[in-house]
Amino acid sequence: MPAAYKIQEHKFDMIVVGAGGAGLRATFGLAQKGLKTACITKVFPTRSHTVAAQGGVAAALGNMGEDDWRYHFFDTVKGSDWLGDQDAIEYMCREAIPAIIELEHQGVPFSRTEDGRIYQRPFGGMTTKFGEGPPAQRTCAAADRTGHAILHTLYQQSLAHDAQFFVEYFALDLIMDADGACRGVLALELETGTLHLFRAQGTVLATGGYGRAYFSATSAHTCTGDGGGMVLRAGLALQDMEFVQFHPTGIYGAGCLITEGVRGEGGILRNANGERFMERYAPSVKDLAPRDMVSRSMTMEIREGRGVGEHKDHILLDLTHLGPEVIHEKLPGIAESARIFANVDVEKQPIPVIPTVHYNMGGIPTNYHGEVVQLRDGNPDAVVPGLYAIGEAACVSVHGANRLGSNSLLDLVVFGRAVANRCAETITPDGAHPTLAGDACDEALSRLDRLRNANGGTPTAVIRDKMQRTMQADAAVFRTGETLGEGVAKIREIHASFADVKVSDRSLIWNSDLVETYELSNLLGQALGTIVSAANRTESRGAHAREDYPERDDVNWLKHTLCWVGEDGGTKIDYRPVHMHTLSGDVDVIPPKKRVY
Ligand SMILES: Cc1cc2nc3c(=O)[nH]c(=O)nc-3n(C[C@H](O)[C@H](O)[C@H](O)COP(=O)(O)OP(=O)(O)OC[C@H]3O[C@@H](n4cnc5c(N)ncnc54)[C@H](O)[C@@H]3O)c2cc1C
Repeated sequence: MPAAYKIQEHKFDMIVVGAGGAGLRATFGLAQKGLKTACITKVFPTRSHTVAAQGGVAAALGNMGEDDWRYHFFDTVKGSDWLGDQDAIEYMCREAIPAIIELEHQGVPFSRTEDGRIYQRPFGGMTTKFGEGPPAQRTCAAADRTGHAILHTLYQQSLAHDAQFFVEYFALDLIMDADGACRGVLALELETGTLHLFRAQGTVLATGGYGRAYFSATSAHTCTGDGGGMVLRAGLALQDMEFVQFHPTGIYGAGCLITEGVRGEGGILRNANGERFMERYAPSVKDLAPRDMVSRSMTMEIREGRGVGEHKDHILLDLTHLGPEVIHEKLPGIAESARIFANVDVEKQPIPVIPTVHYNMGGIPTNYHGEVVQLRDGNPDAVVPGLYAIGEAACVSVHGANRLGSNSLLDLVVFGRAVANRCAETITPDGAHPTLAGDACDEALSRLDRLRNANGGTPTAVIRDKMQRTMQADAAVFRTGETLGEGVAKIREIHASFADVKVSDRSLIWNSDLVETYELSNLLGQALGTIVSAANRTESRGAHAREDYPERDDVNWLKHTLCWVGEDGGTKIDYRPVHMHTLSGDVDVIPPKKRVY
């Protein structure tokens, strides 16, 4: 064992790493089921990125027009460009209804209709009658601060159910046993610099996305994919990493998000000629086409010289026609963000916007119970004992190649709840913990010791900046074999340069230098996985748009990518089949069709 590090040991039935929407829904659900549960989080729970979610959460409640969960199912399969697993999508769209009603009863202050029901707005790609009817009003909203409302309610529920919180604890690595089962995590308490081994029968990773692998992202600086990084180091594969969502309306320059809810309320995208160009690309749904399509259309307009501004490099989002009432009541947060970050009064001027990295469709592969699965001995659905993943960190896969807006908050609550239900059936409260080998933490400790004393020539921030700029340039909205090839070579080099990282702070107390170095190494593994998987997939599907392979190719590519990335930068790719079956006879499988709107 490396230099004597003292470790304090804790034993729980379940531990949840992460206190965003997914982690908190799981935490209180597990506690409610009578399991002794701890939630470990690197930031205070209500500072998790979920707090920033604006537009809303989808569920076919039908409060504001006809709707059916089967329509939601159809839209999600089509939105995923048929890469989503249809059993999991059925589960999510059907369970959406009780899950949202539960949230309402737990106290989420949703906006209301005249007659007191939950207010629902239209969102991109959400339609009725299996795509044949008018847009659905399906997205349940609390003004434009839905994530804030949900996160605070879930935290209150977790406290009410006596879950135990370990706040500002940074999870370093998973503790796996010789049989490949997860036995817990090793974490560093940031304030004291003490090490803690959390042992549990089940470990749930709810660590969020890895948007910060890119230079310009709507996600918080804490979105560094730590769960995915730990999974890669445990020798497990991540899934569908090539699918990165660009949100059409990040504020030009600042990168912060302007919710799709703005277009849901009637906002319009315009080019330099003032033209509503989405009419040409998606004649029926126009500005409410799915995000991948709107982002590509905007990029085409800019490329063809119809961008706005001095450099003709962005687009305008116009809501001046909505009127002060709609803006004050439904979009107050947006008006504030536009004023602060773009110096724009949205009642009088349009907002300058550009497609900005927003969401990771890929992540830790799971089934619809939230159990982590891997390809093992020919079985593509082999469960990893003791390990679960939910939320943006996971790939269930309900979003496939492209997520529909407002389906992520839904994914958090539905699968947070699912994991609690599953564990209530499979985990014995106060069950015995199997003996852990004496050297179980040695690898994680040596790594800590190595990084803490890293004395190379390149500061963490320099490596991070190179990674972010390369991903931004080479794994962008449009991709070609050539740019991806160059990108792979560069990211490999940057990944290798981590061996020369320099950490200046040698202490353990509030060592943000060390934490950022851990985060960088987590990001690097996923950046490499993303760009290698993107170069490998020679077709266009959802958010993965290859100019050299413009068509979707179901014969060769209707399959999930699995990617392993070693600490030495070695990568390996394999595949899992897409689940083209449903769970019940209540809805039919949607066979692949051309995806037009
Ligand atoms: C600006 C913005 C607006 C959005 N709006 C919407 C919307 O309107 N509707 C919608 O459906 N989706 C929206 N999304 C997407 C959605 O909000 C996110 O996908 C979702 O909130 C992610 O939730 P999560 O629980 O998976 O992770 P997060 O909310 O990111 O939380 C991650 C948690 O993990 C913890 N953590 C991470 N690493 C560690 C570690 N090493 N040790 C300990 N703890 C750790 C963090 O402390 C945090 O508590 C939006 C996203 C953004 C960025």
